[in-house]
Amino acid sequence: MDTMQPAPEPFWCGLKDEELLKLRICDLGVRIEDSELHPRIEQLYTELATRSVFLRPDCYLGDEWFSPQGVPAIAIPFYLAHPRLKALELHQMLEVEGGTADWCQMLLRHECGHAVDHAYRFSSRNDWREVFGNPETEYAPETYTPRPYSKSFVRHLPNWYAQAHPDEDFAETFAVWLSTAPEDWRQRYRGWKALEKLKYVHGLMNEAATSQPSVTRGRRISEARKLRTTLGRHYAGRRKLYAEDFPDFYDADLRAIFGNGEATGEPAATMMRRHRAALIAAIVQWTGQRKYTVSMLVKKLILRCSALKLMTPKDSVRLHFELASYLASLVTNHLYTGRFKRSV
Ligand SMILES: [Zn+2]
Repeated sequence: MDTMQPAPEPFWCGLKDEELLKLRICDLGVRIEDSELHPRIEQLYTELATRSVFLRPDCYLGDEWFSPQGVPAIAIPFYLAHPRLKALELHQMLEVEGGTADWCQMLLRHECGHAVDHAYRFSSRNDWREVFGNPETEYAPETYTPRPYSKSFVRHLPNWYAQAHPDEDFAETFAVWLSTAPEDWRQRYRGWKALEKLKYVHGLMNEAATSQPSVTRGRRISEARKLRTTLGRHYAGRRKLYAEDFPDFYDADLRAIFGNGEATGEPAATMMRRHRAALIAAIVQWTGQRKYTVSMLVKKLILRCSALKLMTPKDSVRLHFELASYLASLVTNHLYTGRFKRSV
């Protein structure tokens, strides 16, 4: 039975977004103990105990999901510590990363993989590098071009995140190892090259079960209770960083394409949906980009055409050429350097 008293509601709870944005992060006073994060961290610790891992990474509220370099700790974004802040995050960023129980648990396991590596310095070992690659590889999780059908990597977080970097590959492999019974991952990844990675992690963690970590503490980087920036400035910075993830990123271009010439009575979204398959096939053929990637972009643009209530212009030949050229340029210029993949 949980006999804990619920924490009193913070003074900013009833504020409108504009007012809330004026507050400094350090003044929010949010704590893991008072939030839904507490049982989730407890579950992570239970999973670690089940797999005979001694380490319990220090979990604290930070400004985003990460594990500080070289430190066996996990930073969890402060907005997850209160429903009002989750609502603000949703309004500002259009999604709440780790906002559901399952998603949060997946991210905790992933960051725990980094924390375990920091504690035992596994990635400095030669055998680790033979399995996962050189961790000094340039870190570019925003720009990797994933191979969706590769069987060399486990699948845990979306966007084939294990392929982003050797460190991410290890964190993802660890996450699968932690959350899945050995007989289950052996079955699920049978015949995959990724199975070798899981077996290697299994061996490493068996070793770790009887040895002390070489690093046990370190600095909590970007701890929320010390961040003196206002929520407004925090979000202005993040929105800039993820600009291309925002629907209005394409608005000016779409208005130019569909606003060119006399309009018919047909909504642009309806026209786009009607030609969707042919449009996607042509772009995929001539850009060499994955069908999945192109489909996601087309889906985004259709939703945007609909939201802007754009209509189809009469000159359909010009429109089709223009639309296809625009999409092809987006796919080649933007998606290869695209921000739609996240770094965690
Ligand atoms: Zn990561």
